[in-house]
Amino acid sequence: MVNDPSGAGLTSRRARDRLVRILEQQGIRDRRVLEAIRSVPRHLFVEEALSHRAYENIALPIGHRQTISQPFIVARMTEALLEAGPMSTVLEIGTGSGYQAAVLAQLVDRVFSIERIQALSRSARELLSRLGINNVNLRHGDGAEGWPERAPYDGIILTAAPRDVPETLLTQLAPGGRLVAPVEGPDGRQQLVRYTRTDDAYVRDILDAVMFVPMLSGAEQ
Ligand code: SAH
Repeated sequence: MVNDPSGAGLTSRRARDRLVRILEQQGIRDRRVLEAIRSVPRHLFVEEALSHRAYENIALPIGHRQTISQPFIVARMTEALLEAGPMSTVLEIGTGSGYQAAVLAQLVDRVFSIERIQALSRSARELLSRLGINNVNLRHGDGAEGWPERAPYDGIILTAAPRDVPETLLTQLAPGGRLVAPVEGPDGRQQLVRYTRTDDAYVRDILDAVMFVPMLSGAEQ
């Protein structure tokens, strides 16, 4: 699993256990997802001044006007992605701090993740390597284009909300693959949706109401 170079493992152990209990109470059932959340040191993925709040079930700032998602949402999306069975490759749009990628890295063979803000992509790369997580590949760019060279993916997860899921991303799903994304509704509210690719169509189901930063177009230096 993850090695924690900060040595904060002992002090945060109780806080992590408490977070996992809260997620269970909120309906997360998948033991593997709960264990992944317990093992990834979230305090290293948030701004240092806020690390004491890292095991609360809240979104926190990560700089560049972006946030690390609430642990419940990370768990919920991961569970929704993996519900039908194990996956080998997953593509994430919106690396941010790298936390969601680190959680996925515990559960699938290989994670590909795209981030449009170069500074975030760079610090996520440093942190993941420091943690010894080496099955995550990062790219700086516009996630709307996906990562066609490594397609198809068993799973695709968006951690920023588009108005509509880009068609290009759906085409990069393997047959039987699943895409989970927050999508902007007409009334400014967002919904978590899941697409499952069948042999000749995409089945769409709506999961929960959510709140994510918008998906923006183009990459930023
Ligand atoms: N998964 C992240 C959450 C990051 S918030 C984590 O665990 O920390 C959403 C991220 O999506 C932001 O970093 C934002 O810059 C990025 N983003 C928004 N639009 C994007 C796009 N078109 N392509 C790639 N990244 C995008």
